[in-house]
Amino acid sequence: MKLLTKLPVCIRRLVALITLLTLIFNMSENIYAVRMKNSGMFDNTYETALPQTTVAKFVKEHFDAPLPAGKTEKKCIILGYDGARCDSVLNLKDLEDSAVNHIAAQGGLYMSYAGGPNKCLNLQATSTCPGWASVLTGVWATKHKVKSNGLPLSAKTRTVLTSLVENGKADSSAFFCSWSGHITGDNATYRFEAAYTAENNINVRWLTFSGDDAAQAALLQEAASPECADMIFCVYDKPDYAGHGFGFSNDVPEYVEAIILTDKDAFEVISAIENRDTYQSEDWLIILTSDHGGKGTGHGSQDVECRMTFLASSKEIIPAD
Ligand SMILES: [Zn+2]
Repeated sequence: MKLLTKLPVCIRRLVALITLLTLIFNMSENIYAVRMKNSGMFDNTYETALPQTTVAKFVKEHFDAPLPAGKTEKKCIILGYDGARCDSVLNLKDLEDSAVNHIAAQGGLYMSYAGGPNKCLNLQATSTCPGWASVLTGVWATKHKVKSNGLPLSAKTRTVLTSLVENGKADSSAFFCSWSGHITGDNATYRFEAAYTAENNINVRWLTFSGDDAAQAALLQEAASPECADMIFCVYDKPDYAGHGFGFSNDVPEYVEAIILTDKDAFEVISAIENRDTYQSEDWLIILTSDHGGKGTGHGSQDVECRMTFLASSKEIIPAD
């Protein structure tokens, strides 16, 4: 009897504790949401943030859509800011020669999120490999199977780089990176897809460079070349390195500098694209986005700081209801 009379008290205490924890948990989300809204930079809100899977879906729609009048070729580039928190773009506000500002003015700038459809179920880590896999395939880890770093992409889900060429929507694709975890490492995410495209003569170049600067030099050449791939993805590692080394925060000068430098690199690439001789006859979709955020010197959790990413698109994204 004594136990029974005690039990409800225990439950009430547990409920009170859960309620308090939920309040604290949501408080950080609410503060984050208000900061983003007050920045005046975003075309959506925390409540209407886009899943990062939107990117691949939007890219496919772009290649499926009829060519606009006067255009003869579809093109797309996704420039990835690895580890750039959603709120890191606040450092770019009103900056000239900013890729994010330039692209946002053409289409829009959106809050987006990593880590799976439901933060409570925690279906995938807010980490590099799961994040880019969702960006490039349009599905979450429940399908692409990259729940954390060091796992290969499921052969049942292809990136847009491969699927667009395989389906005849694009003639060629190219993947630019410098981290071995993407293509060349023993546990690299895209090692099987790279082997698949090589075996089947699907024109996808999987390129790993010695660092961001080498990748940037090659990408600038690619963007200026008449033979430039129709579908390009490049991931810049600077923000993630700075975050792990010094902290993922707008209060950390090294992190802020990495965001600004990466955004300048992206702006250079966009300028090279806009200076192409054939630019006027090409229908370009340019997307800038990140794979996850960060908190302290790490990421992977479902905390709002890790979960929220940004997405800038040269064409307006109208979210499906
Ligand atoms: Zn990352």
